[in-house]
Amino acid sequence: MKNLENNEEIFAQKNNTVMTNPVGKYPEPPFERQFQPFPGLAHKMNPVPDHGEESYIGSGRLMGRKALITGGDSGIGRAAAIAYAREGADVVINYLPEEQSDADQVLELIEKAGQKGFGIPGDLREESFCKELFAQAVEKLGGLDILINNAGHQKSNESILDITTEAFDRTMKTNIYAPFWIIKAALPHLKPGSSIIGLSSVQAYDPSEDLYDYAQTKAATTSYVKSLAKQLGPKGIRVNGVAPGPVWTTLEISGGQTQEKIEVFGQDTAFGRPGQPAELASIFVQLAADDASFATGQIYGSAGGSGQP
Ligand code: NAD
Ligand code: MG
Repeated sequence: MKNLENNEEIFAQKNNTVMTNPVGKYPEPPFERQFQPFPGLAHKMNPVPDHGEESYIGSGRLMGRKALITGGDSGIGRAAAIAYAREGADVVINYLPEEQSDADQVLELIEKAGQKGFGIPGDLREESFCKELFAQAVEKLGGLDILINNAGHQKSNESILDITTEAFDRTMKTNIYAPFWIIKAALPHLKPGSSIIGLSSVQAYDPSEDLYDYAQTKAATTSYVKSLAKQLGPKGIRVNGVAPGPVWTTLEISGGQTQEKIEVFGQDTAFGRPGQPAELASIFVQLAADDASFATGQIYGSAGGSGQP
């Protein structure tokens, strides 16, 4: 295993933390009010989120696999990218050009894990780019068998009257159209055993009053996961979703929540704090791993105690 040396190092550092208490494990509210213009940079957040940089230990579960992760520069996508590389997968991440500095940190970690990592920046709201992204990813990796449609846009609006057609369109294009276009580009290349993972949310089940447009895209994601799972099951392609609760990422501090909500973000979970991206990474590994061969059409929740179907 190419990344064993690195993993052993990490394991040695973390040898005393085999079992941890989820209570108090990570920062708790109150958080400092902070706003970054969309899409925001993870390394400029306070506190900086934990994506598993120092903690994720792989065990070869995705050896030889090839993955495309949209929004892999930061947040939940970055945690998945780090975990995938340490499990032995080569990874392409997509992100917006403004996020290059976040992406560079991820690409460095993928290479440090002994795997190939490529960054392909570009705007997923363009159908032509989605097609091009998949073609380039296949070319760089020599094939592809895991697709995580993770990129997403969320903007809090007090009233439906505040949502312009342009803003509504951004949310729909990013969260619904892009996965549709990328999956269509992907299908001819996906072999039996491949895995598609979508990002749903607690918002699919219990939508907030200020996330009118975003919440419906997450309900749509849950729906496409379940529909496609049935359609692609006979072809041996599994399709699953992840439904996080409040997770400390740039999505939230770049307009996804009001500053009032940032201050108390995650306070109402069972642990009294938001989740960190690192706490979700193993779900993405599990969903793509070969031993999860009966898991399809499932939505895996990680919300700290509430909000699930
Ligand atoms: P994040 O901001 O770190 O990641 C979202 C990514 O989406 C960005 O890094 C950006 O690269 C990408 N993106 C947005 N618009 C794009 C566009 N037009 N073209 C290309 N890329 C674009 O935040 P995150 O919280 O890790 O979000 C990842 C996913 O998790 C999203 O689908 C989000 O809806 C979902 N989610 C997050 C939470 C949470 O509390 N953070 C909860 C439930 C679901
Ligand atoms: Mg980002």
